[in-house]
Amino acid sequence: MSSTSNGAPARVLVVEDEPDLRNLLDRSLEQAGYKVFLAEDGIEALEKATNETLDLVLLDLMLPHVDGIEVCRRLKRDERTARLPVIMLTARQEPVDRIVGLELGADDYITKPFNLRELLLRVGAVLRRSRGERGRSKVLGFAGLRLDPAARIVTVDGADVHLTVREYDLLYFLLSHPNHVFSRSDLLRQVWDYDFEGYDRTVDAHVARLRRKLGPPGEWIETAWGVGYKFHPPEG
Ligand code: CA
Repeated sequence: MSSTSNGAPARVLVVEDEPDLRNLLDRSLEQAGYKVFLAEDGIEALEKATNETLDLVLLDLMLPHVDGIEVCRRLKRDERTARLPVIMLTARQEPVDRIVGLELGADDYITKPFNLRELLLRVGAVLRRSRGERGRSKVLGFAGLRLDPAARIVTVDGADVHLTVREYDLLYFLLSHPNHVFSRSDLLRQVWDYDFEGYDRTVDAHVARLRRKLGPPGEWIETAWGVGYKFHPPEG
């Protein structure tokens, strides 16, 4: 799902001066589960970026007053916003600006006209990357179950559990969001980058294998009937 590590929806600022495109992005991101903020020009963008707690900025390059390059430059220079991921929206005829955008520290760029699904995938990927960088080395432990993200090692009562890459990614995601219910499509989007509308049974099969491999801690991956799954660790 489009959530941050505390389970709240990720907060995305859309900076776009064309009303139709701004509305389209607003609706699409909201449908995908994001909390959306809007800005129509560079000045409003800088205000919102410093006044709101955000997880990502989708930044159009050609903007009135202060253009996207300058907005990006100022965001990266201000320590309050320097780590805020930025995806630049560029037009095809702006190859130089595009490079400059990345040199300025933008995390990715998307060329207009874009495919919405592609845009949502990029947003998800950049958010995952930035979350990963923030929490990379924190070992997750719940009773006898431990997951070490730096080493990608999972143990139960000190014994290694051998997981496939996807099983590990799924477990890591669930353990990073305890007590949060995720639908199968949330999990597909988060763990299987490109299987967006994919296969619910893929998730079920991986959960079944995880439960089997983990033994008793596997029971903490609970089925939320009619919805999906949640990781429910024992209290204390
Ligand atoms: Ca524009």
